[in-house]
Amino acid sequence: MSTFQSALTQLERAAKLINLDPRILKVLETPEHLHEKTLTIKMDNGSEQEFHAYRVQHNNSRGPYKGGIRFHPQVDMDEVKALALWMTIKTAVVDIPFGGAKGGITVDPKKLSARELEELSRQYARAFFDILGPDKDVPAPDVNTNPQIMGWMTDEYAKLAKGGEQRAKGSTPYAIGPTQLQATFTGKSIAHGGSEGREEATGYGGFVVLEALRVKQRVKSLEQRANNSTPYALRPTPTVAVQGFGNVGYFFAEHAHRAGYKLISISDSRGAILDKRTLGMDPENIMKTKKERGTIGGCYCIGTVCDCENYTQISNEEILELPVDILVPAALEGVLHKDNAHKVKAKIILEMANGPTTPEAERILLERGTLIVPDVLANAGGVATSYFEWKQNMAGEKWNKAQVLAQLKEKLEYAFTEVWRTAQELHTDLRTAAYAVALERLKQAVTVTRT
Ligand code: NAD
Repeated sequence: MSTFQSALTQLERAAKLINLDPRILKVLETPEHLHEKTLTIKMDNGSEQEFHAYRVQHNNSRGPYKGGIRFHPQVDMDEVKALALWMTIKTAVVDIPFGGAKGGITVDPKKLSARELEELSRQYARAFFDILGPDKDVPAPDVNTNPQIMGWMTDEYAKLAKGGEQRAKGSTPYAIGPTQLQATFTGKSIAHGGSEGREEATGYGGFVVLEALRVKQRVKSLEQRANNSTPYALRPTPTVAVQGFGNVGYFFAEHAHRAGYKLISISDSRGAILDKRTLGMDPENIMKTKKERGTIGGCYCIGTVCDCENYTQISNEEILELPVDILVPAALEGVLHKDNAHKVKAKIILEMANGPTTPEAERILLERGTLIVPDVLANAGGVATSYFEWKQNMAGEKWNKAQVLAQLKEKLEYAFTEVWRTAQELHTDLRTAAYAVALERLKQAVTVTRT
């Protein structure tokens, strides 16, 4: 099953459960615009190289299109379509006035020099200039893109919008102010008009959702005890394994560690470190090791003192099968599939990556009683804070970090409560419930052609 097919399966399941008007379903099954361009950049050795670039605008019934830009060798139209559909659902789950979109370039950015990466990023902004804008389509970072790349794109976009090219073509230049131009991209560095708190927002948001879930579970456990049935048991200091140690995985791990969760394994694309004694590791120490040695490795280092006996290296497949309380896939889609789902021992899967669980795997996991907190809720802290950034830029305001994170917490706790309540009412899993919440909002906004 392709990634887009997986996304459609999830959508159709919820649509069936809530008896969604088939005409609305049809609208949501079909991305509104598929854009594809070839970008040519001059490499440092003087040669020219072509790269395929994409922007899929899935739906804008609830507001401007919104979604990140991914730089990865596996990016293709099918993946970008799926990611764009998930954005439409996600923005509706957290009830922000945006639609869904996604973009990407098929490239391994680690093979580019800093200058080549900057040129490619600027080219992307130029290539899609006409379809982007604060009230049209607002991109953000995703895998292998970051505040610096958003800064280059914003700068390039602003240059074009402010006159030059448009005037040369005889059309009217944009009449919007500089901070509103900055609102075209979110996830920017603070220097480029970014928001305090945005960098850690996705990881922190996942932590907020997890904490909200644990409160519900404690209540459930007390109810079960009162009814003399077996209570749902999670260790008082739950163990956690995190696959993916980028923006999302790192900040999630940081917040979880500080709150007392025991991080016993973490991985990046090269492999994972396992804490054999399950004492719990500090992600900051692991990040330092990664920066110094280029890999997470099999040793756990505090300063210059490294312990290679009580820690070991495991593979990216093994991390998914560890006997932990909470498994956090925070890398790429499709890592939990029909061939490994039955080996998963975690009680809770917190989907910080987009689409890490295929529908086949989800069926197996649900049958085994695994609780899956879906991506469209678990990682929605990023887009919610992107909305706060967009709002600040549009109004020419600056909020402090405490203000941003407090609003984010409130938004996610409310979204979680809505999804949890819907799951109880419809007797369904959390993903289908999240989609049901989103579809109830989308159906008010989507226009269908009457036949
Ligand atoms: P990132 O580029 O910062 O980090 C990705 C991490 O995954 C890196 O540590 C990389 O080494 C690791 N990785 C790559 N391939 C891997 C593999 N096969 N096995 C294990 N690890 C692997 O990206 P990110 O922004 O942290 O995004 C991670 C996921 O979260 C993606 O699915 C993305 O779509 C999703 N997401 C990101 C945001 C955001 O704000 N950045 C928001 C919502 C969802």
